[in-house]
Amino acid sequence: MGEKPIIVGVEIHEFEYKLPNLGTDYNGFNIIYEPGHTLTRRACAVKMHTSTGIVGETLSSSAELATWPMFIHYLLGKNALERETLYLDIKRALRQMARVGIGPLDVLLWDIAGKHYGAPIWELLGGTSRPLPCYASTYHGDDQPGGLSSPEAYADFAAQCLGMGYPAFKIHGWGNAPVQREVATVHAVGQRVGGQMDLMLDPACELKRFGDALKVGWACDEERFFWWEDPYNDGGISQFGHRKLRQLVRTPLLQTEHVRSLQPHVDFALADATDFVRGDIGYDGISGVIKLAHAAEGLGIDIEFHGAGPAQRHCMTAIRNTNYYEMGLLHPKAPASSIPVYLNYRDGLDAIDANGCVYAPDGAGLGVELDWDYIMKHRTDGCEYR
Ligand SMILES: [Mg+2]
Repeated sequence: MGEKPIIVGVEIHEFEYKLPNLGTDYNGFNIIYEPGHTLTRRACAVKMHTSTGIVGETLSSSAELATWPMFIHYLLGKNALERETLYLDIKRALRQMARVGIGPLDVLLWDIAGKHYGAPIWELLGGTSRPLPCYASTYHGDDQPGGLSSPEAYADFAAQCLGMGYPAFKIHGWGNAPVQREVATVHAVGQRVGGQMDLMLDPACELKRFGDALKVGWACDEERFFWWEDPYNDGGISQFGHRKLRQLVRTPLLQTEHVRSLQPHVDFALADATDFVRGDIGYDGISGVIKLAHAAEGLGIDIEFHGAGPAQRHCMTAIRNTNYYEMGLLHPKAPASSIPVYLNYRDGLDAIDANGCVYAPDGAGLGVELDWDYIMKHRTDGCEYR
């Protein structure tokens, strides 16, 4: 395919964006519904320039990009198509930094590859375009009138999502996770829509004790939840703790959202500490989660991708052993939490078709266009390497 795209420069632009009717709860970082308040957030848009004029683009965060000065000069002059070599070299370079930063780099290389070959990433991965069933993934609970402020409010929202076509619904409960309220929510949602849609629970590590997790897990058993995820405050990373939970609770566990890189994921599964494996593209890149998807296939189990975004859609489209796309975070009265800077792509409560499905973009690479006018107008910081 002619001339190779050699990496010649990288631009990082941090910018602000605003989400209306949202705020944060007790800890300052769980996002929740807050009518009348506007939440100001920051993200980074990254461009990787190549010698052929192809430019890779993706979104990330300042935290994830903080390690880039450690390896950026190694990248300059390299062939962007040699993803595997670059991935393994950077993985080693970042071994003392918890491998933070490898995810967005790898996504950029895949975007460049897709643009080089004139194909969407799912096609480079050998996929067949298909509908991707979604679950409605809620914000954390709030205490606002008309919000996700009671077990019944969650049941109402689940019924609304079912009516819109969603085949599945995932509860993120309240900050500080009052155990009885979590249990009541599992029952309220299960009794309202159980049997009509798959149900999931994600306490997001808010439950303080292993014992709290057991009580909530047993409620999931009673309502036949499809999975539960990151139940308690170990941070989602204890293999021993989750193996014990699996011995005591029947609902399938979905762990490893907060485990980075391939080998610890596989170790987690081999320790009998999870039923589904979680893959996070922001952590491990497209290469990392596809390696994990194949490892899971070899173990006869499924991978579920964390969060919404074009890269997740490409990866889901390319593999067999996955169930649901995480549409979120969602609320009956607040906008989705996704960064609103795409010109031709959107996630959100109503971004599904009548069957509750979405599709991966068809354009080359990620197949999405960033709104650079908006990004540059709201730029707060940035840097450039050449
Ligand atoms: Mg989660």
